[in-house]
This record gives sequence, structure tokens and C-alpha cells, in this order.
Amino acid sequence: MDSKNQESMFDKLFNSGKTLFEDISKKVRQSDFFKQGTCYICGKPLIGIYYKDLYGRKICTSHQRHTCISCGGFCNDSAMEISPGKYLCTHCQHYRTSLADAKHIIKLIRKHYLSIGLGEISRFHLEMVGLEDLQRLMQTSGDILGCAKMTGRRFDIEVLRHLSHTAMAGVLAHEILHIWQYQRGIFPPQDVCEGFCNLGSYELYKTIGSPHAKAKIVGLDKDPNPIYGDGYRKIKRYYDKEGWSGVIRKMEGYVQ
Ligand SMILES: [Zn+2]
Ligand SMILES: [Zn+2]
Ligand SMILES: [Zn+2]
Repeated sequence: MDSKNQESMFDKLFNSGKTLFEDISKKVRQSDFFKQGTCYICGKPLIGIYYKDLYGRKICTSHQRHTCISCGGFCNDSAMEISPGKYLCTHCQHYRTSLADAKHIIKLIRKHYLSIGLGEISRFHLEMVGLEDLQRLMQTSGDILGCAKMTGRRFDIEVLRHLSHTAMAGVLAHEILHIWQYQRGIFPPQDVCEGFCNLGSYELYKTIGSPHAKAKIVGLDKDPNPIYGDGYRKIKRYYDKEGWSGVIRKMEGYVQ
């Protein structure tokens, strides 16, 4: 059942007439930035030991390693510092998501979630904000890409305004599943809650299938966080056995 669903979602995404998910595509990988054997930052030939990121960008060990907040790849001197010590690489700058595109992605995700049996996920507000706003909201100095809030009967999603299309889609897929839980009065343990939301991101990345999306899946698989990482792997094992219907049944067991 799930492979069929994934196929239909794939069709919807790619028949929408938009190339939303082509960021960090093969074309970019074949460009000068990735010239074999040269450093992504200084352009000099690489000799001996070097660092390599998830996309094959290689850099000399002498450079400071800045990773992109959106894709996790290495940044060169053209990266944008979006807040102190936090960078956005040139590729993600090029594919920054507009509010209109974010709304389009939300439409696709909601339609997909409806098709897999999650039902309607009704109105919520979307706001694109800066990193400092998110950090203040979550009371951390970490890389916060999005959050979902329930205030009485009002539901809000706030996302980092600097995300590439793929990263934005993953974050929205995650946050919308928080809204789904809020609206149905489902309050599971934190690892189950976040793991379930990450399963939504996983499925979307798998559907997109680009190098950027595949790197995001590696990030989920290897996330050492006991709530986000272990929670995701726990729910993913369940999903592999029981599919979405089993996962939804499990979640509905946490209605309060
Ligand atoms: Zn170098
Ligand atoms: Zn990037
Ligand atoms: Zn979350």
C-alpha cells in the first residue's frame, strides 16, 4: 500500500508544473563547484587528506568548516551569514522558498496526508521568520528550522525563511503532523510525537529522491538525538512493518 501511495504523491509533486524540488540536482553537482579533485572553498587541487560533505563538496582541512543550515553541506565564501555563526550555502540561497511556494508545498502535503488516511488537517497560520525569532521561541541557540504552536483553538506554524525548497518541504511535513496531533487531542510521549513528525519528513524526502533529499534521510537515520533520532527510528520500524494505517492506529491510542 505504501509504495503505491508514494508513487501517487510523486506524480502530484512533479506534475504540478513546478521544479520545486530540483535544488542540489545532478546538474549542480556537475558544475565547476564540484570539479574533481579541487577544493570547494579555495579552488586549489586537493592533496592528501580533505573533508567531504554529503553532496560530494570537498574542502582542504585548513579551512574552517561552516555547514549550511538548510542542506547541511559545506559553505564557501559566498555563503550568507543569516545570524551569527549560522550560514546558508550558495545553492540554498538560489532555491530559497517564497511564501507562495511554501503555501503550494503545504497544499500538496495536506492532500497527501488526506490520501494516506490522516484526514483533513484544517486551517493553521504560516509565518516565515528569522532564526533569532525561532531561537527565542524555543529558548535555544541551536539550528531551529520550524515549530508548531497551539494557542487555545489557534494553530500556528513558524518556519525559517531561509530554507531551500527541499528543506522547507521536510520542515512543513514535520510541523503539519504536530498540528494533526494538536487538532485531534493526541499527546504521546515526546519521542513518539517527534518521531511521528519526522516520519512525515522522511516520506517526503524519499518521494523527492534528489541528492539533497537523500542527504536529509541520512541525517534522520544518523540523528543521535534521543527524542528526534531514536524517536524517528522507533516509529520508522513500526511503519516498515505496519504502514501508515498501523502508525495512525498507534498514534490514535494516545488521544487524551
Ligand atoms: Zn581549500
Ligand atoms: Zn545549503
Ligand atoms: Zn517537532
